Amino acid sequence: MSQEAMKIPQATAKRLPLYYRFLQNLYASGKERVSSAELSEAVKVDSATIRRDFSYFGALGKKGYGYNVSYLLSFFRKTLDQDEVTSVALIGVGNLGTAFLNYNFMKNNNTRIEWAFDIDKNKIGKKVGDVVVYDLAELEERLMGENVPVAILTVPASAAQSITDRLIKVNISGILNFTPARISVPPSIRVHHIDLAVELQSLVYFLKNYPEEEEVEEKLDRKKDLHHL
Ligand code: ATP
Repeated sequence: MSQEAMKIPQATAKRLPLYYRFLQNLYASGKERVSSAELSEAVKVDSATIRRDFSYFGALGKKGYGYNVSYLLSFFRKTLDQDEVTSVALIGVGNLGTAFLNYNFMKNNNTRIEWAFDIDKNKIGKKVGDVVVYDLAELEERLMGENVPVAILTVPASAAQSITDRLIKVNISGILNFTPARISVPPSIRVHHIDLAVELQSLVYFLKNYPEEEEVEEKLDRKKDLHHL
């Protein structure tokens, strides 16, 4: 992300791609303006949060006018470095890794898995979703000197740390970790951890124990919104 993005709070920065995707659709359908209420409905973020987020982007919505779609889009494009494709390496072409390779991410943003590695001889040399699977033993020689800032880890948990250590040596700066393992990295490396089993369990727990939560939050937001009028 660019310098500008550094000043944006992290929680806001995490919502940027969500806003960006929705605004792209709006722009494609020829819409020039959007209100925070419309945005809120579409991206399921309360409108007070949207107004606060957008104030960081220097986009101040006008009452009865809303936000200018093309201004926001060009801001997001710059901030998310959308003009440049970010190359991603995926390690572990199992069920999850294969799904990511087939899906790839170009449809909605400029992030593309261009490298895949595995240790399984039956997978090495094959193409999955247009990407050749290389032998993990060749990780260093393939990636050293290439500009690959991000890696996705879809290997068994037991392999996560040793592969992470090797990725750091080839100058990866961010890791999306889908293994249940908590990996250790130096402070300069960013790790986002997505443990699907934990997420699912936590969703079920919340449904069982806090079924009213969202309603209460929505009411509070509506109250806050009334204060703004
Ligand atoms: P998942 O759904 O998590 O991908 P899976 O059952 O398809 O699971 P796993 O045993 O989790 O397979 O392994 C995922 C992939 O990682 C497999 O393709 C496997 O060959 C590969 N793999 C296993 N160990 C290593 C390792 N040390 N380095 C790289 N790849 C590995």
